[in-house]
Amino acid sequence: MFTVNENFLKLPGSYLFATIAKKVSAFQEANPDREIIRLGIGDVTQPLAPAVIEAMHKAVDEMSAASTFRGYAPERGYEFLREVVAKNDYQANGCDITADEIFISDGAKCDSANIQELFGLDSVIAVCDPVYPVYLDSNVMAGRTGLYNAETGRFDHVVYLPCTEENRFLPELPKERADIIYLCFPNNPTGEVITKKDLQVWVDYANKNGSVIIFDAAYEAYITEDGIPHSIYECEGAKTCAIELRSFSKKAGFTGVRLGFSVVPKELKCGDVSLHALWLRRQGSKYNGTPYIVQKAGEAVYSAEGKKQIDEQISRYMKNAATIRNGLIDAGFTAYGGVNSPYIWMKTPDQMTSWEFFDYLLDKAGVVGTPGAGFGPSGEHFFRLTAFGSYENSLKALDRIKKFC
Ligand SMILES: *Cc1c(COP(=O)(O)O)cnc(C)c1O
Repeated sequence: MFTVNENFLKLPGSYLFATIAKKVSAFQEANPDREIIRLGIGDVTQPLAPAVIEAMHKAVDEMSAASTFRGYAPERGYEFLREVVAKNDYQANGCDITADEIFISDGAKCDSANIQELFGLDSVIAVCDPVYPVYLDSNVMAGRTGLYNAETGRFDHVVYLPCTEENRFLPELPKERADIIYLCFPNNPTGEVITKKDLQVWVDYANKNGSVIIFDAAYEAYITEDGIPHSIYECEGAKTCAIELRSFSKKAGFTGVRLGFSVVPKELKCGDVSLHALWLRRQGSKYNGTPYIVQKAGEAVYSAEGKKQIDEQISRYMKNAATIRNGLIDAGFTAYGGVNSPYIWMKTPDQMTSWEFFDYLLDKAGVVGTPGAGFGPSGEHFFRLTAFGSYENSLKALDRIKKFC
């Protein structure tokens, strides 16, 4: 008889957002007349920018003629896209990253889940707590962790880096061995950021200790303040210790279109072994490329028109973020994030647990957020709200929270 990958059985419960969706649909069924405002899952709501739509239409038309039809895409992605990415996201920012160090993908969730395949099972991972669940779950499934301890809410053989109010949601360097370090800034879920100076400390640590940093920059487009790095390659020495992941999902509303990329610098090595070569091999063997139409859509994000339209979209979301954040603070709540990211990390009132607050808010106010504990034990007593709704709904949600809490 076959056996199963028992590592999967170590995972507690269901995926966080599946649990939330279940609770919300049960509530809606029991209360069909109640209007629910969803500021839970981090999905965008604005339509694709006109420049993107135009590029997609054009690409579709190209598929209709034999002379311009495209089949399988090149394994690393089309050069037209990798070139504009290298130029706009890196070289324009003083980062020495070239087009051939970029791997186009169908998004950062897959990349952040797949990248661990490059490393030995005896490598120790370090994750922030709270954390975007994919980094941890993908390593659990691969067998790189021990068992889950329900009492502590933690897996054995994983280094947790608590991000709390006390350290202003900035992890401290690990005291124990950490080989693969996942960092995400601007952070999901806390909405907080790291300065270039503080990120440099992590890069120096990784180079000194032979660690690799997986830097998830899915929210870099939301940075509004100076001194906050958009890329880890703004730090000196990052090319020998860091892989960066980016996504068009939050930047340009591609959550349903699917486009992202990873950067694996050629200097990044484990002894003589190039991680770039391993990743190329992995993608070539297991991934068959992002659709041409989608890569053309991505290229349009970097056109003059596209840039302008996308800046406007992000400004609209950031207006929501400021409204929610400042509204909560003015009303006496404690709230973080929302300045360089679309997430607001609010402290639950009256010492409620984050799931208690979730149920309370859904029941009383019809507002859905995400319980902090779902992202890790240090997320307890916090609650994540997103700025991805409409302005009208952001205001309405704020008013309802103020009314019932
Ligand atoms: C949304 C998100 C992603 C990626 O999303 P894709 O849609 O798969 O590109 C990656 N990392 C974090 C932290 C996110 O919140």
